[in-house]
Amino acid sequence: MTVLVLGGAGYIGSHTVDQLIQRGTDVAVVDSLVTGHQAAINPQARFYQGDIRDKDFMRSVFQQEKVSGVIHFAAFSIVPESMQAPLKYFDNNTYGMTALLEVMNEFDVKHIVFSSTAATYGEPKSIPIKESDPQVPTNPYGESKLMMETMMKWADRAYGIKFVALRYFNVAGAKPDGSIGEDHHPETHLLPIVLQVAAGKREQLSIFGDDYDTPDGTNVRDYVHVLDLADAHILALGYLEEGHDSNAFNLGSSTGFSNMEIVEAARKVTGKAIPVTMAPRRAGDPSTLIAASDKAREVLGWTPQYDNMEAIIETAWNWHLNHPNGYTDRG
Ligand code: NAD
Ligand code: UDP
Repeated sequence: MTVLVLGGAGYIGSHTVDQLIQRGTDVAVVDSLVTGHQAAINPQARFYQGDIRDKDFMRSVFQQEKVSGVIHFAAFSIVPESMQAPLKYFDNNTYGMTALLEVMNEFDVKHIVFSSTAATYGEPKSIPIKESDPQVPTNPYGESKLMMETMMKWADRAYGIKFVALRYFNVAGAKPDGSIGEDHHPETHLLPIVLQVAAGKREQLSIFGDDYDTPDGTNVRDYVHVLDLADAHILALGYLEEGHDSNAFNLGSSTGFSNMEIVEAARKVTGKAIPVTMAPRRAGDPSTLIAASDKAREVLGWTPQYDNMEAIIETAWNWHLNHPNGYTDRG
């Protein structure tokens, strides 16, 4: 039986595909390459290039593969872009889920693990954020993902498609051998931008706001290593295969790092100065996002291996040094 990974050419998807293959799982990947890279996909996975919204294309994939479960990463995820172009997000993300669930139901595929996000919570009422806290997104990206969670809930009731929604906090790092890593165009995430400055590819980093209600005034975020995240997806599939009910889990470290602390840690790891200027707040940024992640540890048996920010940054820096121009296919 085969695990079908949607968005397996992307940053998190490619690491998950690689981990599945390392553990002997048969993997097929669907990706339109709209933001991903074919070069990121472990060559032992069978690759189908196409869009998950194209139901005929998806039917042909499900006809060719004996799919036991789906892991779904295929979505857009840039918050500021979603504020400018909300319908692009509802079309690709939310409609993508409608089409997918329809085809999964036609082919009687009953398990899906889904990339959700802390952005579904919006501005938290209390820290750390628990899975049972209200989900009130403050941007179309988070809203599109919440709608996808809601669709899965009703598809479970109607068709018995069981899901695990994994609500990621901030994802960082790369496979330690430097062979795959994070390569977004444009890059909007803090750590890869910090490392591009360290590598001399950008002149400086703008920090968005130093007047938040946090110890040093900059936003605080909760980072999880991409390989620990990949591991959580594999555990979540196993959880569904064991016959458990649908569920949602936060994936974070339960520890917060301020943006300035990330810069300091990156200075230590890279030995570079990393010039910083302070810039106005970025619209929609909550002050502090820290996950309560004990549920994933207790229920899924998730035991993240990376509990040290500098170790996470080292793996991302290794990727930057090995691939100064990212993937060259620009798929
Ligand atoms: P990414 O852009 O690197 O990967 C997404 C992949 O999906 C790409 O390869 C892209 O080509 C593909 N794709 C997008 N729409 C598609 C479609 N309609 N049909 C087929 N393929 C399509 O993003 P990422 O950083 O790896 O994030 C993966 C998922 O994790 C996203 O859904 C995102 O919402 C979620 N997430 C990411 C973070 C983070 O920090 N990176 C945090 C929270 C949640
Ligand atoms: N950030 C920043 N400068 C940048 C990019 C990001 O100050 O060039 C800040 C951003 O405002 C937030 C934190 O870094 O406080 C993490 O942002 P990122 O986009 O990496 O992840 P998010 O928390 O939005 O998912």
